[in-house]
Amino acid sequence: MSLLNYEGSGLFAFTGAPSRLEFRIAGAVCAIIVVLLVLATPFARIPLPPAPAFVGAYAAWFALAEAVIAFLMFALFLNYRSPGLFALAAGSLLMPLALVFYISTHGFPSPRPTAGSGLATLWGAGFPFFVLLYVGLGGSSDRRDRIWRPATWRPSVQVAAFIGVSIVTCAALGAVITPVSLSVMAPKGGRWPVAYHVVCFVVALAAGISFAALALRRSRSVLDLWLMVEMAALGADLTLNGFSDVQYDFGWYAGRAFGLVAASSLLLALLIESAAHYGRLAELNEALVVSNRALEHLSLHDGLTGLPNRRYFDTYLGRQVLLMRRRQQNLALVLIDVDSFKAYNDLYGHQAGDECLSRVAVALKSCCRRPAEMAARYGGEEFALILPDTDFASAMRVAESAREAVLKLKAPHSGSATGSIVSISGGIAMLGRGDAGLEELIAQADEALFIAKTNGRNQMASALPADQARRA
Ligand code: GH3
Ligand code: MG
Ligand code: MG
Repeated sequence: MSLLNYEGSGLFAFTGAPSRLEFRIAGAVCAIIVVLLVLATPFARIPLPPAPAFVGAYAAWFALAEAVIAFLMFALFLNYRSPGLFALAAGSLLMPLALVFYISTHGFPSPRPTAGSGLATLWGAGFPFFVLLYVGLGGSSDRRDRIWRPATWRPSVQVAAFIGVSIVTCAALGAVITPVSLSVMAPKGGRWPVAYHVVCFVVALAAGISFAALALRRSRSVLDLWLMVEMAALGADLTLNGFSDVQYDFGWYAGRAFGLVAASSLLLALLIESAAHYGRLAELNEALVVSNRALEHLSLHDGLTGLPNRRYFDTYLGRQVLLMRRRQQNLALVLIDVDSFKAYNDLYGHQAGDECLSRVAVALKSCCRRPAEMAARYGGEEFALILPDTDFASAMRVAESAREAVLKLKAPHSGSATGSIVSISGGIAMLGRGDAGLEELIAQADEALFIAKTNGRNQMASALPADQARRA
């Protein structure tokens, strides 16, 4: 995948726009929910055998799923700083905290016939309003640059403050609503009281309004889409409960089943989405590695000849100087200049000059046989050969072979000062045993090149006195 495809897609998958497939899947789930709701409603009051253990299992799963969603929402909020995500995170804490409150005051819910209903209704009563708050606060849009990041607070303090505020708020809500909902909605004479039906239908309506509010958002995210599925399932759950007559009738069980869909669908979608997102990140990482390599190659090579450029030459020569010093080995540098090249350009044109430089580059490269040897474009019509672990005699041999390789090109040059074909001149410098550095080495080679030029061009020269050259 190209890096460009990722531009503007955002780092987190949930807050991005859903794909067409995701749209279809979510739409199909909503349609199935509506069809099942219509089919189940006429049978809502058929009594079924009681399964008290189901209540505890249901409440535990619900609370666990909501706690995980709350965790994911907080993680998203901490990245995006959108107040909407904070509202969702806080809303998702409602059910787990209500369960904790319930267990600490009444014990685990399974033996109590009303507990599961009370808790589920409590959750149902709260959550759609948090979803409405989420929509009203702008959804999951990125607000990192807004007031929601108190700049003076340390990140750990911010996390503690946000989570603390939501836990305290939801725990207080749970502490007030749980006993009220349990007493108002407790069955009277084995049947649900009127208040139970009223609460169920009101909350179902709230879920419907939240669904519509999400559907009407101009730019829906993946998160919005699955919140809509959750609201549809919750609406179905509470509608069936509204039609249910007693605990453990068909309406009650079917409502609980929709409740499980509500609690699990968002969680599953978020988990699947993040797994897919990790896949995309791995792909992106691979693309980054490839493009980094390409960029590095571009930044270190010359566009015309493909040879290492001046930057690469400087770094490589610097490294080789250090290495050869440590190993006490020789290092030769040959600076090469194409003879009468201005005249070449004047005679044959700049484009032909470029082609000629490319051919010269190939010829020079062919003379670097050992892996550590490098032919580089030094600048303009000047080239360089770096020859590590090479004594003067061998350096002179390589330099001469380079000069001959260029002559062998037989590139016509009627304006040349040396004949009728393109030729080069070169200056050889040896890394001294003393403290002489890189600049001195280059200056020495440049000096030698000047000697070659003044001696008539088309030759290789050294700035070293003959006896010193013999010793090098
Ligand atoms: P000398 O034998 O003394 O080196 O003479 P010269 O004409 O080669 O020397 P001078 O430095 O005066 O000219 C170098 C020329 O190389 C001038 C410039 O237009 C040409 N040149 C430098 N880089 C390029 C290039 O990338 N493409 C082409 N076509 N010409 C280039
Ligand atoms: Mg020149
Ligand atoms: Mg020249």
